[in-house]
Amino acid sequence: GNISLLSAAITLIESANSRHRELAEQIIEECLPHSGKSIRLGITGVPGVGKSTFIESFGTFLTTQERKVAVLAIDPSSQKSGGSILGDKTRMEDLSTNKNAYVRPSPAKDSLGGVARNTRETIILCEAAGYNTILIETVGVGQSETTVSNLVDFFLLLMLAGAGDELQGIKRGIVEMADILAVNKADGGQIDAAKNARREYRNALHLMPLKESGVNPKVLICSAMEQTGIAEIWKLILINQQLTRKNKFFYKKRKEQSLFWLHEQIGNGLKDFFYKNEKIKKRLEEIEKEVLEGRRNSFNAADELLNMFLDKK
Ligand code: GDP
Repeated sequence: GNISLLSAAITLIESANSRHRELAEQIIEECLPHSGKSIRLGITGVPGVGKSTFIESFGTFLTTQERKVAVLAIDPSSQKSGGSILGDKTRMEDLSTNKNAYVRPSPAKDSLGGVARNTRETIILCEAAGYNTILIETVGVGQSETTVSNLVDFFLLLMLAGAGDELQGIKRGIVEMADILAVNKADGGQIDAAKNARREYRNALHLMPLKESGVNPKVLICSAMEQTGIAEIWKLILINQQLTRKNKFFYKKRKEQSLFWLHEQIGNGLKDFFYKNEKIKKRLEEIEKEVLEGRRNSFNAADELLNMFLDKK
């Protein structure tokens, strides 16, 4: 429960310094036995849908349910702009100062893969520090959701009424990934529109095949601002958890996620080896030029480099 220690440990994890890395790995190793006992929830939706307002309301509600909440973010856009979802603003002011919540700004400027790896380790640290509800915010643009789905147990998709999927920039794959769809901003003059959208989404979801979890996605309406529909969403998540623990999908998914990260880590490690190899670095530059100028085909060029790396030539 010591937030400054937790923050310091996360900073170590995010550090590129190899001495920090060593210590970070030791910490993770020792935290692992104390991790895993939380609900991990991904929250996504296009910018402006109300994600941070929702997390502020939802997170605060959870703390009244005797939950300890950690909020993390995966923000691929921060790679380009240098900004971040959580870091730069006074968002989630109440939650940030709530003693049962921990809001971690997203680390800016790293590859999505790097951020995801850090996030996976950060989850472990937060759980070991006593946080039993992990909320991971991500922007609904596609790639980041796929990554986040390998980190979380459930996915909540926030939507707006009166905008088609295309308009909202939401990919079909993301809708398929969601366990709960909530039409946000169901307040003021928007309530009827929200109810209509709820009906439409319910109809659309009927046509989708049953999810592997065995639990059909649910659609509801909420207002992050007026804090309505919030408790219902939490109730649905608890029911989903109960059902998937019973049919064992919950555990199966977490095991599959461990395998996924094993292979990710191997893949990243191999790539690192390859690209840091001095011989490769030198030859790669020439070969890239050849490929760019159309003097060489990519496959054959890749083979040459791989063979060179494996000393086959
Ligand atoms: P994000 O970009 O998805 O994190 O969205 P924000 O939480 O920053 O919200 C975007 C805007 O929508 C802000 O002006 C919020 O005040 C507003 N907003 C968020 N939730 C609601 C809601 O439930 N009802 C209404 N009317 N406005 C909301």
